[in-house]
Amino acid sequence: METPIRKWTMAIDMDKCTGCGACVVACHAENNVSIFTPNQIAWGRAMHWIHIERYWTAAAYPNVHAYFLPLLCQQCGRAPCEPVCPVYATNHSERENLNLQVYNRCVGTRYCQNNDPYKVRFFNFFDPTFDAPLTEQLNPDVTVRSAGIMEKCTFCVQRIRRAEQEALAEGRPLRDGEVMPACVQTCPPSALVFGDLSDPNSQIAKLAANTRAFRLLEHLGTEPAVYYLKGGESRA
Ligand code: SF4
Repeated sequence: METPIRKWTMAIDMDKCTGCGACVVACHAENNVSIFTPNQIAWGRAMHWIHIERYWTAAAYPNVHAYFLPLLCQQCGRAPCEPVCPVYATNHSERENLNLQVYNRCVGTRYCQNNDPYKVRFFNFFDPTFDAPLTEQLNPDVTVRSAGIMEKCTFCVQRIRRAEQEALAEGRPLRDGEVMPACVQTCPPSALVFGDLSDPNSQIAKLAANTRAFRLLEHLGTEPAVYYLKGGESRA
């Protein structure tokens, strides 16, 4: 069976996001993301592949509203982090429009982090430590990164692979909504939607065409694969 070209894309509805942080926890658990001590965080070493930015409406008190913007790697079609990596550790998958990170190729120059306008790439200053019993829940499908390695979200590429293999074994195409990154699966109000934008009938294609949809720093020409749905219109 010929491998189809995909355009994996995420939509995030800011009117639905409550800022609960469940997606952050799910991402940590799924991707073996390190947990840092308060002292390390005070040194600026916090690491969350997805984190929640908070914004307030400009209205005067008491008519102010908080909005939450979950920020993760935007899987740019023209990613500024890619051309600066001297060893091709960060590179683009044309087949599925993912910004990949090859851990065992990374030599830790951090050029990619400096050239990333979204600041969603993280450097391992320490070897990870997972106190028992957290060692029992490490995901065997995901590498545990060591000190000196850059890391970031890849739309849970291991889940994409698993869904593709299951569909292949059953001799059928992937269904819309079948691939669920951990954050999407966990979000209580279903603020996150994931899918293949190249399928015109997919839910993600409809959300990307929504009049509320916008992309972060689009004027830089990065062609992000994450669409945000502007908040506020249903609260006005
Ligand atoms: S889990 Fe959903 S509602 Fe909670 S912070 Fe993440 S995106 Fe927002």
